[in-house]
Amino acid sequence: MQLIHTKNKLRTFVREARAQGKTIGFVPTMGYLHAGHGSLIQTARKQNDVVVVSVFVNPTQFGPNEDLSAYPRDAERDLALMRTHGADVAFFPNVEEIYPAGFTTYVEVQGPMTATLCGRSRPGHFRGVATVVTKLFHMAAPDRAYFGQKDAQQVAVIQQMTRDLDFDLQIVVCPTLREPDGLAMSSRNVYLSTAERAQAPTISKALFEAEAMIQKGERTVAAVSQHIQKKLQTMPGAAIDYISIVDARTLADLETLHSTVLIAVAVKLGRTRLIDNIRVDVS
Ligand code: AMP
Repeated sequence: MQLIHTKNKLRTFVREARAQGKTIGFVPTMGYLHAGHGSLIQTARKQNDVVVVSVFVNPTQFGPNEDLSAYPRDAERDLALMRTHGADVAFFPNVEEIYPAGFTTYVEVQGPMTATLCGRSRPGHFRGVATVVTKLFHMAAPDRAYFGQKDAQQVAVIQQMTRDLDFDLQIVVCPTLREPDGLAMSSRNVYLSTAERAQAPTISKALFEAEAMIQKGERTVAAVSQHIQKKLQTMPGAAIDYISIVDARTLADLETLHSTVLIAVAVKLGRTRLIDNIRVDVS
């Protein structure tokens, strides 16, 4: 596995691979890798000749009072996990490499898709995501790029941006990996105290109960939403940011449940903001 820090070296590597007719799979991450990231790398490994994994804690997607400086980092462990899963390139750019002095151009997916869910509580977040992903797509020039369903709104935004800006690549969405007790794996889980960690599985339990309600025939958004709310309120000290039941593709609000819906929640447990979601096919 090659460790690359600059976009020029990455471009040279990618150009040479392409000249040999190789396909490129790309997995963008913010590091502190866990098995969820590992599953994306593994899927990319199966589907491509070359796998590039990036680690970049992107400052433009963090708000002024968010956890940019505290975000967990462990480059050595990340490199080991990448090697285990068969990555060919570990791309670790620094901030100046991505945002050199004088940088002033941003990519913004507009409309309700970025105004709802996390977009409402994290203004500017998806502008930062779309901008960095655009830049990384230009640098890695992949045939396929891998994203986790865990960040469902990010997936919708990247898919919209890929269509709108004619990126010549395929977005591959991978399922959410969970801890044995159901908690969605996240680099931020390390922030949780022992007591918070013990409560955290209530979030996925609420989602799975909602899914079961729909499978039993419930079609009213308000009823499902209220059930989730009651469940989440059983966690002492939890502050619900949102409970949203929306169209899975457009993220538009729904009054009744039909086609494929996304049930997404964000909850603050102490100082840690956790998100989770499930997609439910409503027949
Ligand atoms: P992050 O490092 O948190 O920005 O995540 C990098 C990529 O890994 C994103 O596409 C995430 O959606 C994905 N990812 C994060 N957690 C999980 C998980 N538990 N299961 C599957 N993919 C995940």
